[in-house]
Amino acid sequence: MTEHKLSTLVLTVAALLVPRLQAQIPINLEIDASSISRKTISAHEVLPITSSHELIYVFPKWIPGDHGPTGPITDLVDLHFSANGKAIPWTRDPVDMYAFHVSVPADAVEVEAEFSSVNLGYTSTPVQGDLIFNQIVLYPDGAKSDEVRVRLSVTIPTKWQYATALPGAHRNGDTIRFSDVSLTTLVDSPMMMGSLMKEFDIAPQGEPRPHFLDVFAETPEGLDIKPERVEAYRNLVAETGALFGSRHYGSYRFLVEEHADANDGLEHHQSSDNQVPELGMVSSAFLAESGYLLAHEMVHSWNGKYRRPVGLATANYQDPMIGNLLWVYEGLTSYLGEVLAARSNLDTPESFRDRMANDEAVLDYRTGRDWRSLQDTATAAQLLYLASPHWEALRRSNDYYTEGPLLWLEVDSIMRTQSRGNKSIDDFTRAFYGLPNYDPKSGDLKVLPYTFDDVVTSLNSIVPYDWDSFFRHRLEALRPEPPARGLEAAGWHVVYTDVPNDASLDAETATGLTDLRYSIGLVIDDKSEIVDVLPDSAAGHAGLAPEWKVAAVNHRVYSPQLLLDAITAAKTDHQPIVVMVLQDNYYADFQVDYHDGLRYPHLERIASKADLLPAIVRPRRQ
Ligand SMILES: [Zn+2]
Repeated sequence: MTEHKLSTLVLTVAALLVPRLQAQIPINLEIDASSISRKTISAHEVLPITSSHELIYVFPKWIPGDHGPTGPITDLVDLHFSANGKAIPWTRDPVDMYAFHVSVPADAVEVEAEFSSVNLGYTSTPVQGDLIFNQIVLYPDGAKSDEVRVRLSVTIPTKWQYATALPGAHRNGDTIRFSDVSLTTLVDSPMMMGSLMKEFDIAPQGEPRPHFLDVFAETPEGLDIKPERVEAYRNLVAETGALFGSRHYGSYRFLVEEHADANDGLEHHQSSDNQVPELGMVSSAFLAESGYLLAHEMVHSWNGKYRRPVGLATANYQDPMIGNLLWVYEGLTSYLGEVLAARSNLDTPESFRDRMANDEAVLDYRTGRDWRSLQDTATAAQLLYLASPHWEALRRSNDYYTEGPLLWLEVDSIMRTQSRGNKSIDDFTRAFYGLPNYDPKSGDLKVLPYTFDDVVTSLNSIVPYDWDSFFRHRLEALRPEPPARGLEAAGWHVVYTDVPNDASLDAETATGLTDLRYSIGLVIDDKSEIVDVLPDSAAGHAGLAPEWKVAAVNHRVYSPQLLLDAITAAKTDHQPIVVMVLQDNYYADFQVDYHDGLRYPHLERIASKADLLPAIVRPRRQ
């Protein structure tokens, strides 16, 4: 067989297996979300074809923002294909669990698919739901998501309201039809819905692009956001304009669900999908957390969506992602999110310093920094997002979220010092992300991929420095290098006192954790279960382990306050703290020999160095 004949055969086989799309004819996707409160949605999808053979349809596997193969394939159920009104059988690909083979009659011009997605998770409650389109769509294998067009209609629960960045909505009863969009835009535009909802216009004066805060609550009190807080979100929009000098979207929406046990967000180009605790947008206990969360997710519209590491800028949702630049994508976003929250009045300068102290303290106590580099936490992101929280100090987690702010604070501080105060990270953000504004008439949103060298080259064009070696050293270093240089360069260092750190208390309120990692070396959840043990701590030396339940402290029934009091009392009492745990089906006592009292991280000035933090958090908006 000649080489020419081989390539002809390969082409023929490919033509047999890959459904050819008629680009002009969109996929028709009708979604019934009327049962979303039961954590189930269903779809009827019509997929046009131009050739009738054995075809392959795929369910999205690699999910943007998740940075991993998290498409919930096990929850895709009740799948049926038909053509010309007759059922046609399907088989799953034996290697790729996300791919379905169907054999279509020769005279068919379209394939119909019916299926449901179940077990939608914590985003669905009796009064709210979050429709995430990668959970309820099939598309032809091999197609580029930018090139697949989708015509969408969604039926929502009776009389519920909704919000989404999808364009051209037209509501008839409880069914909403939208303008045709690319599959990329569909997957990037979740639709939040609920019976209790309020929309706030947060476009600053003079900003032509619409900006909204759409809040879905469990109770009417959850919608009672104070005017000054709404103004702070308006400030955030203004501060992003000042920081980046451009916008790459036609409009932007914060979609926010308030309900218990949630404090998380997912970034999109023209919206962000946020879950906060019940009353999370109004209760003073969550304001710093929710303000930071929304600032972080909005930064992603520039850093992550418009500009994206080349390994994450994939053609569709089946191509594997490479996360090695997540220390830019997530790390710089974490730094800018903290800075913007402070500049916008969503957070205070004191809380900003507490957050920075926490970031460094968490890493100071990360035993895993002995064996795993910061770079490996990015490279292995697709594993670490799914990792158990147990033994996290030893394993390390996606640490670019906590080490990123310190790394980029060091970059910011070097830029300021080297340029004698004339340049800063703001010059980099304008140069790297602030390219021409998006024109809403131009069509679908653009992605501009970047590499490690692009980051280094851009920084060098603003402040000449050996950025290449700088990053490589920080990314590859193992302990004893502490991540303290960022704060030191800005004139601060971490000290530990028995005064609680307000930012960590807010985080504990939001997560339900009791965080004693800096004293006895334990993190305990609100069900009394040990989440993590620091190996080189009093609790670690005593032999305690994650997953065990704390039953008693000094022979009294456990409560978080009892343990805090016992740690304080042990400063003057030379007896060990007796921690009784339920270890599988056995009770056992452990002697925690610790006498240094409660310890919480705080920042303290280094008198000999200039304080750069006030200039960093100073508002930029006009
Ligand atoms: Zn993020």
